[in-house]
Amino acid sequence: MIHRFFKRLFMSRFENMRREFTANVSHELKTPLQAISGAAELLKSDVVKEEDRKKFLDIILMESRRMTRLIADIIAISQLDSGSQIEKDDVDFVRLVREAVEALRPLANEDSVTLTLSTPLESTRIVRGSEHFLEAIVSNLVINAIHYNRPGGIVDIKLDYDRGHMTLTVSDTGIGIEKDHHERIFERFYRVDKSRSRKSGGTGLGLSIVRNAVRLHKGEITLDSTPDKGSVFTVSLPYA
Ligand code: ADP
Repeated sequence: MIHRFFKRLFMSRFENMRREFTANVSHELKTPLQAISGAAELLKSDVVKEEDRKKFLDIILMESRRMTRLIADIIAISQLDSGSQIEKDDVDFVRLVREAVEALRPLANEDSVTLTLSTPLESTRIVRGSEHFLEAIVSNLVINAIHYNRPGGIVDIKLDYDRGHMTLTVSDTGIGIEKDHHERIFERFYRVDKSRSRKSGGTGLGLSIVRNAVRLHKGEITLDSTPDKGSVFTVSLPYA
């Protein structure tokens, strides 16, 4: 009896979350698609002056890239939800972090942000897991630390290990996050400042992917942040 009650309660909550997610996805996909078709129609109608054509082509390019990112993130979320089919390997986490950080240097330069990486580890440390989703953890945290920073700001990435756990710390000197939002920013499509997220090309899904990918690896994530000072995300992952 009680069991059935909780089961029904759980199922209806789950069903509501699923519905809400589908509605959000439809809305998020519709917006760039409307911008793309609007721009294409204008270009086709010949009302656009020759010197303005590039502006509309830029809109098409930008919005189609946004759609590509959204779709990639939605695929990642549904893979993490189903969980079981995700392939696991022995992943050298130190190498993975180094490579992910190097790949993001150009993005940091564009925003005049400096990336620093410190790791006391000479040797490799193997994490049993999904290379793809471990990379997603590092990249999403570092990309956010760049985008929610200030010009001339710093992103400090530290790697350490202790008693069977790797610790990855990503600290920034950016806008920070009010305490009220600390739980919610890990929810799908939740953004503190929607227009800032949009301007930087955010999908609102990054941190929910990070949280689920950390869970997949039986790790933990914590956040410490001060508004106008910056944020520190700490991920701890068990290693083999
Ligand atoms: P988005 O694509 O909007 O960045 P995320 O899921 O990655 O989506 O993050 C959710 C929200 O959390 C962001 O919109 C932003 O408001 C906030 N946020 C994430 N990382 C940071 C950070 N390093 N500093 C300040 N705010 C952040």
